[in-house]
Amino acid sequence: MRQSKFFMPTLKEAPSDAVAESHKLMIRGGYIRQVTAGVYAYLPLGYRVLRKAEAIIEQEMDRINVPEMIMPHLLPATLWQESGRYKKYGPEMFKLKDRHGRESLLGPTHEETFTEIIAKNLKSYKQMPLALYQIQTKFRDENRPRFGLLRGREFVMLDGYSFAATRDQLDEQFDDQKNAYKRIFKRAGVSVHPVIADSGTMGGKNSTEFQAPAAVGEDTIAMNETGTYAANLEMAKSIDTFKQEPEEAKELTKVATPDCDTIEKLAKFLNVPATRIVKSILYIADGKKVLVLIRGDKQINEVKLGHVLDADDVHEANTADLKKITGSEKGGVGPVNADWADKIIADETVKNLYNVVVGAGETDYQFENANLDRDFKVDEFADLRTANEGEPDPVDHLPLKFTTSIEVGHIFKLGTYYTKTMGADFLDQNGKAKPVIMGSYGIGVTRMLSAAVEQHLTEHGVAWPKEIAPFSIHIVQMKMNKDDQTELAEKLEKKFSDKYDVLYDDRKERAGVKFADADLVGAPIRITVGKKAADGIVEVKRPTDEKATEMSIDELDKFVN
Ligand code: ATP
Ligand code: MG
Ligand code: MG
Ligand code: MG
Repeated sequence: MRQSKFFMPTLKEAPSDAVAESHKLMIRGGYIRQVTAGVYAYLPLGYRVLRKAEAIIEQEMDRINVPEMIMPHLLPATLWQESGRYKKYGPEMFKLKDRHGRESLLGPTHEETFTEIIAKNLKSYKQMPLALYQIQTKFRDENRPRFGLLRGREFVMLDGYSFAATRDQLDEQFDDQKNAYKRIFKRAGVSVHPVIADSGTMGGKNSTEFQAPAAVGEDTIAMNETGTYAANLEMAKSIDTFKQEPEEAKELTKVATPDCDTIEKLAKFLNVPATRIVKSILYIADGKKVLVLIRGDKQINEVKLGHVLDADDVHEANTADLKKITGSEKGGVGPVNADWADKIIADETVKNLYNVVVGAGETDYQFENANLDRDFKVDEFADLRTANEGEPDPVDHLPLKFTTSIEVGHIFKLGTYYTKTMGADFLDQNGKAKPVIMGSYGIGVTRMLSAAVEQHLTEHGVAWPKEIAPFSIHIVQMKMNKDDQTELAEKLEKKFSDKYDVLYDDRKERAGVKFADADLVGAPIRITVGKKAADGIVEVKRPTDEKATEMSIDELDKFVN
C-alpha cells in the first residue's frame, strides 16, 4: 500500500475531549473519527486493525468447531417481550417504531435471537453440543459513552451462544470457549486475567470476565499475587439484575418494602442478622438513578449514599458529592454509625424512587471466597473506587492487590433461563422434552483494540502487537527525489509484500512528518530508506527500540523473517 494513496488524516494534537490515551492515539493517528457521541467511523487504518482482530477470532472459533453466522441488527420487540427483557433491559436499549407502529430495537446482545432460532430448529439431543457465534455491531445507548472505542454506543462485539443437553456438556463448552478466549487475547497482544464476575442483566451464575489491566480501566479487579484468585470489584448492581432471575435471586435478595425504613427492619424482613447486610446497589427508577452502598461486617459500620447520576458515574462517585449528601467530612467513605444508616434507608429520595433491594447472605458475595478483613479491609476496599490504587494490608493467605482494568470479555453459564421462557426444548434419549442448557460468550472487539493500545503505548505512538498491527512493515523513504532511494524502497516493497502487509511512505513530506506518522502507525518493523540506499543499507527500528539499527539488505532479510 502506498501511503500517498492511503487515507490517514493524522493530527498533531488530540481533541481536548479525548482523555484516554488509546482514544487520543486513534484520533491522532487517523484510525477513527467520531460521527456522533459514542459512534465512530473506522478509517482505513482502524478498519485494518479491526479486521485483523476479527480474523484471529474466526481462526480460534474454527479451532473449537464453533461456526460463524450473522443475525440481524434490527429486532422485533416481541422477541424481547417473550424473554421478559424488553422492559428489564432499561434505557440502554435503542428502541424504534416502524411505519406501522410496530416496536423494534437495535440489538444490544442476542440471547433471544439465537434462542429462538434454536427453539425452531433444534429438536434432539443428537444435535448437541452446539455453539454458534457472530461478530456484529451492537447498539447500547450508554449513558456516558466515552474513551473512544472503550465505551461506544455502537461497537463491534463477538457474541457466541452454546446449547447443550447436559450440564457436563455446558461445562465442556464453557472451558473450550474460555481457552479460545485466552488464545484470542494472547494473539491480539492483550494481557488479561480471567476474573470472577457478576452476571449483570444477562442473568445466570458462573460468570467469568476477561479483564485487561490498564490505567484508564473503569473496573477494578482484586487479585492475589499468584493469579490464582481474581475478582471484579463490581459494586453497583442494577435492580434489574435481581428481577431477571427471580428464583436464583430469591436466595440472595429480597425486595424490601418502604416499611423497611431502618436497617433493623430491613434485616428482619430479610431474615438475616443486621450485621450481615453487605451489599451495594444501584437504584434505577423513573430515569433517575441513585447509588446506595450498604456494607457491614461485625456491625453496620459503613453506609454510603451518593446521588450518582448514572451507572458509569459510579466509579467517579466523587467524594465532594458524597460529602454533600452524607454531611460527613469523609464524604461517602468511612465509618458512620447505625443512626446514620437508618437515615439513609429512610431517605426520601431512596424510598420514593424505588423499593430497596439488599443482598444478604452468609458470605460477602462481592468476592467469592475472599472475605472482608481477612483478605482486604473495608477502607481500602472503599477508597479504591476513587483512588484507583492502593493495596490492602497483608493478610494471612490471600493478600489481594487492586488494579484498574478494562472488561474485554465476559462468558456466562446461562442455564435454562432463556430456553425455558422462550420454549426451546429438545427431546432427550428417552424422548422426554427438556429445556436446552445455554451459555453466552462475548468479547468487545473494538474495546479490545483500545485495550491493546492502552497496554502498548510508546513515547510518541503505539507498538501494535504483531497480529493486529495495521501493517507489519512500514517502509519510509526519506527523499522522494532520490532515485537510488526510490529504487531500493520499491524493491523492498515488492519483496516483502508477498508475505507481509507493507505500507510504503512515498509521500513528498519532511522526514520529521514521516517519522511522526510512522510512530502513530506503529508497525512492528520500520525500515527507513535514506542516504545509504545506494550501498544497500537501511535503518531498521521496532517501535519499542530506542534507536534504529543500520542493516544491509541481507541482514534485513534475516531480521524480518
Ligand atoms: P460494561 O460493564 O463495560 O458496561 P457489559 O458488562 O455491559 O460491559 P457485556 O454485556 O458483558 O458488557 O458484553 C460483552 C462485552 O462487550 C463486554 O465484555 C465488553 O468487552 C463489550 N462491551 C460492552 N459494552 C460496550 C460498549 N459500550 N462499548 C464497547 N464495548 C462494550
Ligand atoms: Mg454495560
Ligand atoms: Mg460489565
Ligand atoms: Mg459484562
